[in-house]
Amino acid sequence: MRILSGIQPSGRPHLGNYFSMMKRMLEYQETSELFCFVASYHAMTTVEKGEDLARNIEGVVLDFLALGMDPNRSTFWVQSDVPEVTELTWILSMQITVPQLELAHSFKDKVAQGIIPSGGLFIYPILMAADILAFRSEKVPVGKDQKQHLEFTRDIARRFNNVYGDILTMPEADISEDVAVVPGLDGRKMSKSYKNTIDFFASEKDLKKAVSSIITDSKGVDDVKEPEGPLYDIYSLFLDEDGRKALADRFRTPGTGYGHIKMDLLKAILEHFGEARERRATLEKDPDTVRDMLAAGAKKARAVAAPLLEDVRKATGLRYMR
Ligand code: ATP
Ligand code: MG
Repeated sequence: MRILSGIQPSGRPHLGNYFSMMKRMLEYQETSELFCFVASYHAMTTVEKGEDLARNIEGVVLDFLALGMDPNRSTFWVQSDVPEVTELTWILSMQITVPQLELAHSFKDKVAQGIIPSGGLFIYPILMAADILAFRSEKVPVGKDQKQHLEFTRDIARRFNNVYGDILTMPEADISEDVAVVPGLDGRKMSKSYKNTIDFFASEKDLKKAVSSIITDSKGVDDVKEPEGPLYDIYSLFLDEDGRKALADRFRTPGTGYGHIKMDLLKAILEHFGEARERRATLEKDPDTVRDMLAAGAKKARAVAAPLLEDVRKATGLRYMR
């Protein structure tokens, strides 16, 4: 089974990315053929400064490696190092209409948050379809916000195959329901571009600041509190069923304030990511090794995308000489 997913270097990765995508990808690494990329072209829809994009790419690469991505076992690369994907984007753009793209929730949400409605942001779903289809991916682990984009990808593949023959592999979204939408500090979807995130590799001081600013109602230490809302939901990500029950009891039993619970959550985060935080600090000192890993990753990825593109060029008439 070929599994593929990507993450945008549009800022620092956060707990939503980790639980719905990164952690699950690393679990798949044990059993499946894993393709994982840093979506540098996609991030250009929200990151304008070159220096920022470059630092973000480097950061996300280090994050994934520190969390356990193994470039020897899996194929791990930066999207823009494999140019076949942009060629396929153009070709696939004929298989989706403007009215269909106008239905994209993600586009509407981002524009509502004040992000510039560029042509790039509008055709984001086509680039994503190309990412998935260029590598003949079968399963795509994502958060719920990507469900519609995966449906677009399937529509595009279906139409392309109807016109040109059975060339593209039909992928399936793989969404884990209990981590489908992780809430952010302000209760909206945790999102790099909303600046409401918990970056699990941040300094202890910054992590503490982030955790302290999770919104709650104004109930005090002696009040009975409802086990719901972002604090409960985020903490639950680190707990098994019994742990969640115990947490719900803490909310309902007077004597514990939100502040105490937040500091316990901080401890849980630091413990969960302890080893990865140490590995990241070590990797950071060795950019040459990381650069070599990425060059090898792009080569491996291109070796898969290039023959697919050749089939596409033949089928569409772009290979014009007999
Ligand atoms: P941006 O705001 O720039 O879109 P993002 O935080 O949404 O960034 P992406 O890089 O777009 O992150 O998404 C990477 C993966 O993380 C995708 O599979 C996406 O579905 C998932 N994801 C993002 N935010 C959340 C969230 N709050 N809960 C669950 N999954 C999420
Ligand atoms: Mg997103």
